[in-house]
Amino acid sequence: CVVCPDQATATKYDALYKDPSQPVGVRVQDLLKRLTLDEKLGQMTQIEMTVANASVIEKYDIGSVLSGGGSIPAPNATAAQWINMTDYFQSGALKTRHGIPEIYGIDAVHGHNNVYGATIFPHNVGLGCTRDPALLKRIGAATALEVRATGIPYVFAPCIAVCRDPRWGRCYESYSEDPDVVKSLTTIIDGLQGTPPKGWKGPYVQNSRRVAACAKHFVGDGGTQGGIDEGNTVVSYEELVNIHMKAYPDAIARGVSTIMASYNSWNGVKMHANKFLLTDVLKGQLGFKGFIISDWQGVDRISEPWGVNITNSTELALNAGIDMIMVPYNYTGFLDVAKQLIAEKKVPMSRIDDAVTRILRVKFEMGLFEKPYGDKSLKNYIGALSHRSLAREAVRKSLVLLKNGKTGSKPLLPLSKGAKKILVVGAHANDIGLQCGGWTITWQGMPGNITKGTTILEGIKKTVNSKTKVVYKANPSKGDAKNKGYQYAIIVVGEQPYAEFNGDNKNLTVPDPYPELIKDTCSHVRCVVVMVSGRPLVVEPFVDHMDAFVAAWLPGTEGNGIADVLFGKYDFQGKLSRTWFKRVDQLPMNVGDKDYDPLYPFGFGLKMGLES
Ligand code: BGC
Repeated sequence: CVVCPDQATATKYDALYKDPSQPVGVRVQDLLKRLTLDEKLGQMTQIEMTVANASVIEKYDIGSVLSGGGSIPAPNATAAQWINMTDYFQSGALKTRHGIPEIYGIDAVHGHNNVYGATIFPHNVGLGCTRDPALLKRIGAATALEVRATGIPYVFAPCIAVCRDPRWGRCYESYSEDPDVVKSLTTIIDGLQGTPPKGWKGPYVQNSRRVAACAKHFVGDGGTQGGIDEGNTVVSYEELVNIHMKAYPDAIARGVSTIMASYNSWNGVKMHANKFLLTDVLKGQLGFKGFIISDWQGVDRISEPWGVNITNSTELALNAGIDMIMVPYNYTGFLDVAKQLIAEKKVPMSRIDDAVTRILRVKFEMGLFEKPYGDKSLKNYIGALSHRSLAREAVRKSLVLLKNGKTGSKPLLPLSKGAKKILVVGAHANDIGLQCGGWTITWQGMPGNITKGTTILEGIKKTVNSKTKVVYKANPSKGDAKNKGYQYAIIVVGEQPYAEFNGDNKNLTVPDPYPELIKDTCSHVRCVVVMVSGRPLVVEPFVDHMDAFVAAWLPGTEGNGIADVLFGKYDFQGKLSRTWFKRVDQLPMNVGDKDYDPLYPFGFGLKMGLES
């Protein structure tokens, strides 16, 4: 034996793997040798909660269940309802021959975003502007607690994509166009999982108040041609390593438990089938010891049309190094096909053993065998005041001041709290759903009162003096701002929510009626434009009309963080995480390019210069 078990302790348990005092490596090896091929393949399968039930999990030894794209137990489900569901699935797993717990995963990508009443943090594009690694660590820890409060031990976050083209519908999931900024913010993993002890190698989850994280999507997701989601990234190996892969060694050094393969291709080869990058580079050169999970039906998508040639896709993916298959097109079909491939020696047994070793290692390491069930005592962490104030801090630190005062005139910001009458316009000023963007309550997100929080308008109203009259018009008619005695106007504009390919957009124009609204309002009264968007949009044709311009990104539930800065309680400190281009024909355009000619460069961000 490599690490010899302690015989005395071993006798207390009927199997070595059940003994928590044994080293994880010993437990993994002991359990692995007891498993049949069917049990091993079950561990490698992750199914969607909408098709899962306790008996299916028990029957097929399913290793993992997920809530994909906002699937939830019930509308506005409470923590107790979530735990009832996850515990129920777990009960199926624990009834299997070896009682291997399943690991439940969810997209908690800006806080626990599927859960009604949870704290929703700014999306990554905004967090990138904070340049604050310590803040990211705190956000990770808060998110972990809210996720655990629903009985879930695993999140598909962080997204460490380096978005090189804002036309990509997932640009807001990327911290920055600059790989060094992305790399510096992998600290969120320390918060999600806890910080491993010095010298630690391999996956790490500190305790049952933390979660297993997943760095995604490996690799080149943010580099596709034209910013097309799931497209082809045509770059040299050097560029792939120096830009898109740059944050991965850090994520691995922090003990990230899992890494998700990306839908995109690299130079025409689907990442899910790329043995060189998944096995030789990621597991070999970079020394990643956790498990590689596929993306949703990512294995089936290797061959076109999806799900038709699953024998070929499965062979390619398994041999490339995929360890856990997220949503095989048809999971029983996958199990049959995988068995056939092994019988025909097209996939070696050693590959299956490697995959299962990695999966079991993560499960043991995070203490899932000892604590497989949810902890109902954590429920008050969901949307806790301390988490909301952390999110409010993140909002204010993510705001970027792009303009303050027309040429030759005085700055407009900070706004006066004591104004007699002010105008707030734009539907984005008073809508939690619009503030949160995609991946909020539902996969695509949606406008409206979708969860608890504070809108930007509510934040403004709480900040101004009690005597200040705040007039709000979601969609005013032309000339409404004229002759009405407003001291200034706050115009909140932005994009509608979207996620993934639905957000791919070649034009990146500011949606109507906002351009006209800005021109009209600003011609009658001094105005600050606050933009709520997942990326820079084309503002060049009307930016001169604005007195002040603030990028607020997708701030999440704590809209009061915006008033905190507009009215000067704090100064701006955000720096652009992305280049603000003038026209889409300049794209892709990133800092360091030779014809760099932005409207506002990467790293730009003004201050109001408050006296301290
Ligand atoms: C996305 C992943 C996500 C998964 C599960 C996929 O469509 O690309 O980022 O984690 O769905 O919801």
